[in-house]
Amino acid sequence: MAIFDAMASNPMLLMVFVTVLGLLVGSFLNVVALRLPQMMEAAWKRDSRSLLELPADENAKVISLTSPPSSCASCGGRIRAWHNVPVVSWILLRGRCAYCSAAISPQYPLVEFVCGVMSAVCVWRFGWSPQLAAALVLSWALLVLTVIDLREHLLPDDITLPLMWLGLVLSIFEIFTNAHSSIAGAAFGYLSLWLIYHAFRLATGKEGMGYGDFKLLAALGAWFGAASLPMILLLSSVVGAAVGIVLIVFRGRERGSAIAFGPYLAGAGWITLIWGSAIGRLMLPH
Ligand SMILES: [Zn+2]
Repeated sequence: MAIFDAMASNPMLLMVFVTVLGLLVGSFLNVVALRLPQMMEAAWKRDSRSLLELPADENAKVISLTSPPSSCASCGGRIRAWHNVPVVSWILLRGRCAYCSAAISPQYPLVEFVCGVMSAVCVWRFGWSPQLAAALVLSWALLVLTVIDLREHLLPDDITLPLMWLGLVLSIFEIFTNAHSSIAGAAFGYLSLWLIYHAFRLATGKEGMGYGDFKLLAALGAWFGAASLPMILLLSSVVGAAVGIVLIVFRGRERGSAIAFGPYLAGAGWITLIWGSAIGRLMLPH
């Protein structure tokens, strides 16, 4: 296709195209982050009622990623296409609903902006290559997992498990690592957090993370291989410690209060994606 040929030969065009694509995907990720947990809750309720042999709830709202159409949470006004231009609409509307002027969370433009920036960084790092396509998918998945975990303390299997399978499949083509190291990475990724979780629970009686975290590290292990796991765990604790200190300083958050671990793992996974080989060279000089 002509457009692909043009992007392959013109880095600037590629950068602009992928950044705009990233902004649009960010807008979609907002929808996923809002609705996927609601869809999961509705499914749990349906399953529980059927398990208890209760009749199905006739009034249960049917919700999917595409229906009902997006509307204002305050007044129910339909969100039109021009209200939905990533970042720009929020600024033009000054963060308020076009109908009722209720405040719209800055989360929406922030996720769009971050998604655009992450996508642009992937172009800068990988250029026109198979790695770029894979890196974009991983970046978007890690971003939406972060938003969902921050909001709901939840890492949906619907995202973590396909992400792991995709990492395993990509290893056949040696996109980031080979199949041998990918399979070992998935297994040891899951197992290492599982062990830390049970050791932590035995030692303190508290649960420091959830099974979603194990699956996310399994996915990252599948993408980058078993050898990357120590670096990912180290990076996630560095990111976690940095964020924790900032929170304690600015919010006086009490130590030991629950902070979702998923965002740190996702952050470490993304740093590994972009700078992993550079960090690896620093840690293991040849
Ligand atoms: Zn409204």
